[in-house]
Amino acid sequence: MTIALCMKCGETKWGAWCECEKCGTKPDVGSRLELIFTDHNYAPDTLEQLGSVLKEISSLSADSQQAQAAFLYYISGTHPDILQVSFPPKEAKVFDALLNACTFEPVTIEQSFEALMEDKQRQAEVDP
Ligand SMILES: [Zn+2]
Repeated sequence: MTIALCMKCGETKWGAWCECEKCGTKPDVGSRLELIFTDHNYAPDTLEQLGSVLKEISSLSADSQQAQAAFLYYISGTHPDILQVSFPPKEAKVFDALLNACTFEPVTIEQSFEALMEDKQRQAEVDP
């Protein structure tokens, strides 16, 4: 089974495209965003830390779409190796203000066991 992050409320849930038990959001099947934030890529603890970031942004933001966009803005700026999204300067300014109001601790990004194993395998294929 897969542990995934709900991109709406920041809770961890089972299955990237499954309904979130906490907020009832059911992402579109095939959504790539949901696949990124799973334990196929990152350690469950990392997902929880990222969830706390999203939760705090949501608590300060007027609407959940804005909160999600601000979260992606934060990821792009702080952890660009996860993903990069660019936003118009006007929006970026709003997100900066939101993020400045947050007090979350810096997130330590740790790859999941599965991702590490895949890396090892790839390495082995490169230099036999
Ligand atoms: Zn949720």
